[in-house]
Amino acid sequence: MDLGIAGRKAIVCAASKGLGKGTAMALAADGVDLVITARGRDVLEATAEEIRNRYGVKVTTIAGDITSEEGRRAALAALPAPDILVNNAGGPPPGDFKTFGLEDWRKALEANMLAPIALIQATVYGMMERGFGRIINITSSSVKSPISNLELSNGARAGLTGAVAALSRRAIRHNVTINNVLPGWHDTDRIRGTMASRAERAGVAYDTYVADAVAETPAGRMGTIAEFGAACAFLCSAQAGYITGQSLLVDGGEYPGLL
Ligand code: NAP
Repeated sequence: MDLGIAGRKAIVCAASKGLGKGTAMALAADGVDLVITARGRDVLEATAEEIRNRYGVKVTTIAGDITSEEGRRAALAALPAPDILVNNAGGPPPGDFKTFGLEDWRKALEANMLAPIALIQATVYGMMERGFGRIINITSSSVKSPISNLELSNGARAGLTGAVAALSRRAIRHNVTINNVLPGWHDTDRIRGTMASRAERAGVAYDTYVADAVAETPAGRMGTIAEFGAACAFLCSAQAGYITGQSLLVDGGEYPGLL
């Protein structure tokens, strides 16, 4: 399917690995030129080269922390008027609600709520003037089904979802959409790290722990970054101009509710 976005330009945040990379690859496959960001320069450059070699699109790298003002300024300086913005960053740490201080909450809100809001504010009005824009917030299945021990993530991501809900309904009149994509378990470094520490705590070999855990899920496996990226790319397509303000679960059927 031709997504009708060849030649468009996207900022994809936190995209040297994992879900951000999957999304960058899927957009590049449809001919979108990219600005990709991450903190670590080496992996970022390697990912950029991989995308250029595979898809022949222009890829600019910005090494920096997208949750900082400086990091955002650098990304926007590289592409001040993007057609597509994909918000993403590392997630807050797990922990016990009882022990979180306000500083922990401030950091989580800064990274997973305020940083995307700042990037949306900086780009959405230009998109509306130009008559095309697609904004994706990579959040978490925890927005629909909060996860114990991930309260920092639950709160910040739900806050972002609420903060842009009304704006998404105003922007669509100008062919600008804002949607949230909610990953369940995907096979990324982050999830591998989480699984490894859980396996260690349980005293079980990593492979056994993962096999048992995924066997419990409807799909019987984790999602791939390519599957996740393809869902995001569709929401960025020309054809998706009538979809806005939605929270799309990409979780292999894990969420059990009807709606
Ligand atoms: P990942 O495999 O660890 O990849 C994270 C990517 O983001 C890397 O490229 C990393 O590069 C970059 N990054 C992290 N913090 C950044 C920052 N402050 N500024 C710029 N770049 C940054 O993680 P992932 O699994 O793709 O997860 C992405 C997001 O989805 C996270 O918020 C995670 O909590 C959420 N999520 C993931 C899953 C899942 O199953 N994978 C499920 C639910 C929610 P550097 O480290 O070099 O910066």
